[in-house]
Amino acid sequence: MNIDKIKTIGIIGAGTMGSGIASAAAISGYRSVIFDISPDALVRSKEGIVRGYGKLVEKRKIDTAKKDVAVNLVLPSSDFDSLSECDIIIEAAIENLDLKKDLYRRLDDITRHDVILATNTSSFSITAISSSVKNNRSRVVGMHFFNPANIMKLVEVIKGEFTSDEVMNTVIELCKKLGKVPVVCKDTPAFIVNRVARAFYGESLKIMGEEQAEASLIDTIMKEEGGFAMGPFELMDLIGIDVNLSVTKSVYEAFFFDQKYKPSPIQQKMVDSGLLGRKTKQGFYKY
Ligand code: NAD
Repeated sequence: MNIDKIKTIGIIGAGTMGSGIASAAAISGYRSVIFDISPDALVRSKEGIVRGYGKLVEKRKIDTAKKDVAVNLVLPSSDFDSLSECDIIIEAAIENLDLKKDLYRRLDDITRHDVILATNTSSFSITAISSSVKNNRSRVVGMHFFNPANIMKLVEVIKGEFTSDEVMNTVIELCKKLGKVPVVCKDTPAFIVNRVARAFYGESLKIMGEEQAEASLIDTIMKEEGGFAMGPFELMDLIGIDVNLSVTKSVYEAFFFDQKYKPSPIQQKMVDSGLLGRKTKQGFYKY
């Protein structure tokens, strides 16, 4: 599929990432059909996107006319079949391999065979996800945005075992149209950034667990002296403790239980307690 043929972008999942991707797509002029099984998530998503555009108007980064056009391009939907009209679909549902494979099997049934199927997975193998696509597996690709997806520039574009060069090129072009910086990655567990980041989170959790330092101290020194934009605990709260734990579990498994990626019981306990970070108003910090 040529980049010029892409007019409508489908997004699966109206959570943190799906909303950010839809926001970036609509402000760049693309019709953005956003599907979720949760009607509440769809309402919250559109409200959040509209609020975000409002802030851009206040800061004079866009004018009201551009905002209005973009708002009308965000089309929430609770009907899976509405994705059949899209030219590319970016899946950003929860980080669960079986669920993603099932979504791809269903997408395979309703889409034209040249429609690009991209996944925003943080850690799973693109090749494994593509195994449920029977009609043209070469259209499955990784498109890993960073949080908040409407602001962060980097997108890891991941070439699965069967992804065609044509699909890679179109996705790279699309990233540029969305104002992003695409970086091509191989299909290895957690790609580049999230793999490096496992140590950032894992060692910080160990230091806290050993009571060497509290979360706030670790965050402060990593920012003020380490030059990081956010400390590890602030970042885990932003990402979602549940999302972060799922990614760690997936990397741990993918590397055949290499102890260096072992998940932290602290994170598991927080997930069990429903303390998921900013989205539940409490994680390592209260919001
Ligand atoms: P989230 O929990 O905020 O949102 C997930 C959404 O998926 C929810 O609205 C949920 O209702 C919806 N959903 C669940 N099952 C569904 C289904 N069968 N069909 C359609 N929608 C469904 O999660 P998130 O943080 O947006 O993460 C989404 C994906 O993006 C995950 O694969 C995650 O690993 C990846 N990711 C997350 C971050 C991050 O910082 N949070 C960064 C990069 C990539």
